[in-house]
Amino acid sequence: MIEPSQGKSQRVVVIGAGIGGLTTAALLARRGYSVLMVDQAQVPGGCASTFQRRGFTFDVGATQVAGLEPGGIHDRIFSELAIAPPLATYCDPACAVYLPAETQPISLWRDPQQWQQERDRQFPGSQQFWQLLQDLFQVSWRFQSRDPVLPPRNLWDLGQLLQAVRPDTLTTIPFTLATVGDALRWFGLSHNQRLRTFLDLQLKLYSQVDAEETALLYAATALGVSQAPLGLYHLQGSMQTLSDRLMTALEQEGGQGLMRHTVEQIVVTGDRCSGVVIRNQKTGATWTEGADQVVANVTVQNLVQLLGDRVPQGYRQRVESLPPLSGAFVVYLGVNQRAIPEDCPPHLQFLYDYAGPIGENNSLFVSVSRPGDGRAPAGQATLIASSFTDPRAWQCDRDYHQRKQDYTQTAIARLSQFFHLTPDTLLYQEAATPRTFARFTARAQGVVGGIGQRIATFGPFGFANRTPILGLWLVGDSTHPGEGTAGVSYSALTVVRQIEAEYS
Ligand SMILES: Cc1cc2nc3c(=O)[nH]c(=O)nc-3n(C[C@H](O)[C@H](O)[C@H](O)COP(=O)(O)OP(=O)(O)OC[C@H]3O[C@@H](n4cnc5c(N)ncnc54)[C@H](O)[C@@H]3O)c2cc1C
Repeated sequence: MIEPSQGKSQRVVVIGAGIGGLTTAALLARRGYSVLMVDQAQVPGGCASTFQRRGFTFDVGATQVAGLEPGGIHDRIFSELAIAPPLATYCDPACAVYLPAETQPISLWRDPQQWQQERDRQFPGSQQFWQLLQDLFQVSWRFQSRDPVLPPRNLWDLGQLLQAVRPDTLTTIPFTLATVGDALRWFGLSHNQRLRTFLDLQLKLYSQVDAEETALLYAATALGVSQAPLGLYHLQGSMQTLSDRLMTALEQEGGQGLMRHTVEQIVVTGDRCSGVVIRNQKTGATWTEGADQVVANVTVQNLVQLLGDRVPQGYRQRVESLPPLSGAFVVYLGVNQRAIPEDCPPHLQFLYDYAGPIGENNSLFVSVSRPGDGRAPAGQATLIASSFTDPRAWQCDRDYHQRKQDYTQTAIARLSQFFHLTPDTLLYQEAATPRTFARFTARAQGVVGGIGQRIATFGPFGFANRTPILGLWLVGDSTHPGEGTAGVSYSALTVVRQIEAEYS
């Protein structure tokens, strides 16, 4: 039994120190709760953590951060925690997208006018489509910044949802059941292969699915956040600085973070969650930690596993009937700076082949470190490239190592078309597969990035933070508003407000 920290008498256990769990834990500790946060990994941060190899610091998954601008979600949270946000510079362009056989990229400029000119040049005839996206984004963004609870599960949640609604919000309702594919058809653009491919590539990064399936309202936001006055940021030091600051805030507020401790089970007594079973990985000691509230910063699939036979049947069925989820294949390269072309944007996306779905190594999302950003020794850089992959294909032991090697070689060969990768400039290489993610982040089957922002699973139709079990909350990228460090921070703030409301 761990000694509770000082403050309010209510005890909260947070399972997982991803950005969602860290944010919930730090905010609850700041608001006076007795908080214990438990994570099975060695370092906090989950998919937004880092690892070190031979002088290089590699960001495990997330490499760019939204929500650091004044009033953005990370900014709001760091203000409440009275702690300085990590140092960051914005990415401009946010991304340079290279379509097959094209040598000039489509650049997502931060300046809205510059981005509009780029779109007009790259996708003539699509102005009305982009105007619709922009209009929907502005209304949706104002709505989201009034902190709605989505989807609502009781009267308090509904009240929070309704207080966020304004007359302009109602204009988005007719678009709730539309996808990006529908919008392309409305404007006669469904056969515009170039535009569709660009949208597929970008949307897959944020919504897990392509334009045909992505909910239009979600897409409007995902495609709008990279323009001023918002933007995507590159953190000085590494992505770890985000987690480290949240961990510092938790500890300063008297909360406790236990690394290398695994939650093996969520305990339910009657109709209420009453605690968790924790195992110390070093000693093997196991104990039950009682709690008034338990916040699970895990995937919804992991939540079902942790509940075992206590999970309500309908909830289990819903989780089990989700469409297959994506995993990631990532190569981490330590290179000589000579490998990086002059004026290389910090993020690039390459598609190598128009045929087939985006994924399985035919597209790469690439993040490049900047000189002096703390990720590589002087004169060197990190280059991280990720692609989507079906996690089920990596479960079989027989061809695992061969497959990993083939994927790595293919990725490096493809990157060599843009970067100067030679035995001379390529100093270090390592790869992560869904099995690696399963091992280091404990995500079931190594799935990453949430449940996909299709109509059936986005916003009003997604998984709620409030679970069917009293005193048990779900936080992170399986819930609204979805993946990304900014997204999971919103979900953390929602859970904190819901728990506060329980005691007010
Ligand atoms: C390759 C890749 C690239 C990405 N790029 C970006 C990007 O550029 N920008 C961006 O914003 N987002 C990006 N994302 C998405 C982003 O990283 C995630 O959506 C976000 O970090 C998820 O945070 P989370 O708190 O929901 O969960 P996680 O990061 O998964 O954290 C969950 C934590 O819970 C712990 N845990 C799980 N089960 C247990 C248990 N039983 N007991 C104890 N601990 C447990 C894990 O160890 C982990 O630390 C990327 C993701 C990947 C994989």
